[in-house]
Amino acid sequence: MSDCIFCRIAAGEIPAEVVYQDDDVIAFRDLNPQAPTHVLVIPRKHIETLHHAEQDDATLMGKLFLGAQQVAEVDGIAESGYRTVMNCGAGAGQSVFHVHLHVLGGRSLGWPPG
Ligand code: 5GP
Ligand code: ZN
Repeated sequence: MSDCIFCRIAAGEIPAEVVYQDDDVIAFRDLNPQAPTHVLVIPRKHIETLHHAEQDDATLMGKLFLGAQQVAEVDGIAESGYRTVMNCGAGAGQSVFHVHLHVLGGRSLGWPPG
């Protein structure tokens, strides 16, 4: 999707600080970080929201979490802990409509989230 900002990042058309990538997913630092580590893991395939994922996307959706593991290793936060968040829909705070898993860490994170 040429008008999707995250598809364009995945294609290398828009610069981003890539932390991890493989054939299926790519992880890059958030433009407006909310924690010392704030990375977005996205599938290379354009899927609008979590709610648009289909049965055939099950493995791909799981790979987002394995991508989060890689991010935690790269940033050295596996031991201290990290949080993964996926906002689904505008009412939940989704602003970019290409599925992405936020990976947050490097500071203490309160629960429940504010
Ligand atoms: P959402 O609100 O959809 O869950 O998260 C979208 C995230 O994408 C936000 O945290 C926002 O800062 C980030 N973002 C939006 N545009 C860009 C961009 O062009 N580059 C990067 N690296 N992050 C972006
Ligand atoms: Zn896209």
